[in-house]
Amino acid sequence: MSRTYRIAVLAGDGIGPEVMTETLRVLDAVEAKFGFNTERSVQLVGGAALDATGNETPLPAATVEACEQSDGILFGSVGGPKWENLPPDIQPERGALLPLRKHFGLFANLRPGVCLPSLTHASPVKNELIPEGFDVLCVRELTGGVYFGTPKGRENRDGEPVAFDTMVYKKSEIQRILRVAFTAAMGRGKKLVSVDKANVLASSVLWRETALEVAKEFPEVELSHLYVDNAAMQLVRRPGSFDVLVTENLFGDILSDEMAMISGSLGMLPSASLGAKKEGSDLYFGMYEPSGGSAPDIAGQGIANPIAQILSAAMLLRYSLGESDAADAIDAAVAKTIDDGYRTGDIATGAATEKKVGTQGMADAILAHLK
Ligand code: NAD
Repeated sequence: MSRTYRIAVLAGDGIGPEVMTETLRVLDAVEAKFGFNTERSVQLVGGAALDATGNETPLPAATVEACEQSDGILFGSVGGPKWENLPPDIQPERGALLPLRKHFGLFANLRPGVCLPSLTHASPVKNELIPEGFDVLCVRELTGGVYFGTPKGRENRDGEPVAFDTMVYKKSEIQRILRVAFTAAMGRGKKLVSVDKANVLASSVLWRETALEVAKEFPEVELSHLYVDNAAMQLVRRPGSFDVLVTENLFGDILSDEMAMISGSLGMLPSASLGAKKEGSDLYFGMYEPSGGSAPDIAGQGIANPIAQILSAAMLLRYSLGESDAADAIDAAVAKTIDDGYRTGDIATGAATEKKVGTQGMADAILAHLK
C-alpha cells in the first residue's frame, strides 16, 4: 500500500506562490518515483490572508487547523510593501510566522549554507579559499535565550535610563537542541562544532558542559567548541572545514545570516524549523521555508529562483516524512542541474556556457534530472 502523508501548503506572498507551484511539480515527480503520496491542504497566510479577510488576520484559524492536522508545513514567504503600514501585530511576518513558530513549539532552526563548486563565483569569499565550495548546516536554538528571557525592560537608575535583557537557558532546552544537532551530524559528516561564549557568559558555561554530556550519546560524532567571535571569523576563512554548527538563539541569528551571505544567493537556501519529535518516531513536526523573503522586487515576473523552496520540500521529506531517498534524489537533481549550467538571474554571471532560465525553466531542468 502506498504511504500517505498530510502536508499543509502555505505559499504566502510575492514570489511565494510562483516558487511553490514549481515545488509541487517536483513533489509530484518524487511521489510517483518513490511510491508515496501527499495529501495537500492549501491555505492562506500573510498578506494573501489579510486581503481575503479584510485585514483581519494574516493567520486565519483554518490555516492553523490545517497545519495541526498535517505531518509538516511547507511554507513560502510572506510580506511586502502593500501590508507594511498595517498595525505591527497583524503584519504578515509578525502576525503569521512568529505565532506559527510559537504555536507549534518550533525550537530548532536548521539552515544549510551550501555553495556548490560551480557557484563559488557568487560567494563573496575569495574563490581560492573555497575551491570545492562548502556545505555547512547551522542548527540554531529558536525559542530561548536573550530574545525571550526575563526580566527584560527599562527603568531609571541613579537618574538615567537603563535597559536590560536576560540570556537564560534551562539545561533541558540545551539538551534537546544539541540532540537535534548531533542527530543531523550523524546523517552527514559526523563533525559538530558547538558555538558559545563560555569565557564570559554563565549560560554558555552550562551550554558547553551540556554539549560534553550529550556527546556521550553520540560517540561517533567528533565534537569541538568555538567561541562565537572566532566562529564568525573562521566561517569566512575556512567555511569548507565545517560540517554542522550548533548554537544558541542570538549567536545563531547572526551566524546563520553570515552563512547565507557567504553562500552567494538567498534563492538557493532552504530552512527548517523543527518542533518536538513525533511520538515513537525519529521524525519531527516542522515548518519548511526558503531562507529569503517574498522578494517583491522580482515577484510576478517568473524569474525567481525556485531552488530554495524545492530544497525546503526536500528537508520536509527528510525530517518530517522520513522519505530520505526522495529527499536525496531532489538534492542530487538540483546539484546536477546547477552543474549542467542552468542559471536563474540571481546566480548567473553572463558566461556563454550558462543556460539562462526562469522559475519554470529551472524546475523543468530539475524534473528532467529526476527522471
Ligand atoms: P528578500 O529575501 O525578500 O529579498 C532580498 C533580495 O534577495 C532581493 O533582491 C530578492 O530579489 C532576492 N531574492 C530572494 N529570494 C530570491 C529568489 N528565490 N530568487 C531570486 N532572488 C531572490 O528580503 P527583503 O527584500 O528584505 O524582504 C522582502 C519582504 O519579505 C519583506 O516584506 C519582508 O518582511 C519579507 N520577509 C519574509 C520572510 C519570510 O517570509 N520568512 C523572510 C524575510 C523577509
